[in-house]
Amino acid sequence: MRIASLRQEAKNSWPSASSPPQVDAPPTSFRVIPIHEPIIPVFHYSGWVEAGINAGMVEKIFLSSDERPFPKTTLRYSFTQMKEFKNEFSWSKSRDESFQACLRQYYFNYYAYWNGWLDDAPLRTRQIYILKNLKTRQMWGGEKVHQCIERTMKNLQRGIPILDRDQIIAITLNRMRADFKSSKAKHYLQRPKSCALFEHEYDLGIPDELWKETAHNVEICLRNFYDSELFREMQGIPADRWLETEQFSYFMFEGVKIWVVMDCCFRSDHGITIIDWKTGTSTTQDNSIQLSCYALYVLGRWGIDPEGIKIIEYNLSTDTPKDFSVTWRNIEDIKGYIRGSIADMRFLLMDVEGNIPKDESLFKPVEDKRISDTCNFRKICKGR
Ligand code: SF4
Repeated sequence: MRIASLRQEAKNSWPSASSPPQVDAPPTSFRVIPIHEPIIPVFHYSGWVEAGINAGMVEKIFLSSDERPFPKTTLRYSFTQMKEFKNEFSWSKSRDESFQACLRQYYFNYYAYWNGWLDDAPLRTRQIYILKNLKTRQMWGGEKVHQCIERTMKNLQRGIPILDRDQIIAITLNRMRADFKSSKAKHYLQRPKSCALFEHEYDLGIPDELWKETAHNVEICLRNFYDSELFREMQGIPADRWLETEQFSYFMFEGVKIWVVMDCCFRSDHGITIIDWKTGTSTTQDNSIQLSCYALYVLGRWGIDPEGIKIIEYNLSTDTPKDFSVTWRNIEDIKGYIRGSIADMRFLLMDVEGNIPKDESLFKPVEDKRISDTCNFRKICKGR
C-alpha cells in the first residue's frame, strides 16, 4: 500500500516547484521522501524506483542522511517524465554474466521478476522478485564496505568531517548485526528490499565461525582503506575534481543504454582516475570487461583519451592496489564484446523494440550443478 501511495504522491506532485534544489538535476524535477528510520529499511520503498531506473524514468537515486550514528534518512530521486514503467532493454556487465551463466537464470533476473514489487503480484512473480534480491554473505560484506566508503567519499566531497575509523567500523558491524537478524528471521519475505541472505533463504546452516569470518573481512577491508596511502591522498583532492561516486550512470551504445556504476572517479593531473574497490580474497578474477566499460564511459562522458585514464583496482582485503591502463585497442575490443553480447540477448526476444522475451522454455536451464548450487532461483527452478 505504501508503494502505491508513493506512486500516487509522485504523480500528484510532479513537477513540484517546492522541491528542494539539487545540483544534479533541475529543482523542479525532484521529489524528496523523508523516511524516519535508519538507512537500511529505506530500500523497502525503492522497488518501484528501481523499476523506474530500468525504465529510464528515474535519472538519479541517492540516499542522504545526517551524521549521527543512527541517521535519519532521506530517499531522493528525480524523474525525467511520468509514464508507465516499462522493462527497457539495457546492457550491463552483470546482465552479461547472468546470460553467460544460465539462460533461465537470466530470464528470471531480467524478465520474470517484473512487477514482482506490486502488492497484487502473482505469487510466482513475487517469489522470483524476492529471490532475485538474495545475496551471499560475501556479497553482503562487500556491499557494506562499499556503502561505508561511499559515504566517506561523499562527506569528503561535501567538506563534512569524517568520523573516527574505529567508530565507522563499529557502526558498520552494528548494522551488519541488524541485517543478519532481520535476514535470519526472513523479514525480507514481507519487506523484499531488506537484507535477504542466500544462506538464510536456503537454510544452509552456516557455522558461526564463517559468519564471523565475513564480519572480520569487512573490518580488515575498512581498516586497510582508512589506513591507506590512497585514502590520505584522496583527502587532498579539491571538491571540484570529484566526478562520480557510486552513481548509476549510463551511456548510449548503438541505441542501447549501457549501465556503469563506478566506485569513485576524479580528475587528476594526468586526466581521470577511476578506483574500483575489491573486497574478496581472490586475486585471480578477470575484471577487464568491467574496467574497459568504465573507460568507454569516461571517454564519451568527459572526452578523455585512453592514455589519460588511470584505473586502480584496489583489493582492500589483501591491501593490494593494482594499476591498469587502457588502450584504444581495449576500447575497440569492449565495443565488439558488448555488440556481440547484445545480439545474443536480442536473439531471445520476440519483440526487440518492446523488449518482450520469447517463451520461458527457450531460456534453457544450465546442467552445471556448480552454477545451480549457488543460484538464487534454485528453489523455483529445481524445487530445492
Ligand atoms: S537453478 Fe540452475 S538451471 Fe535453474 S536458473 Fe539457476 S542456474 Fe539456471
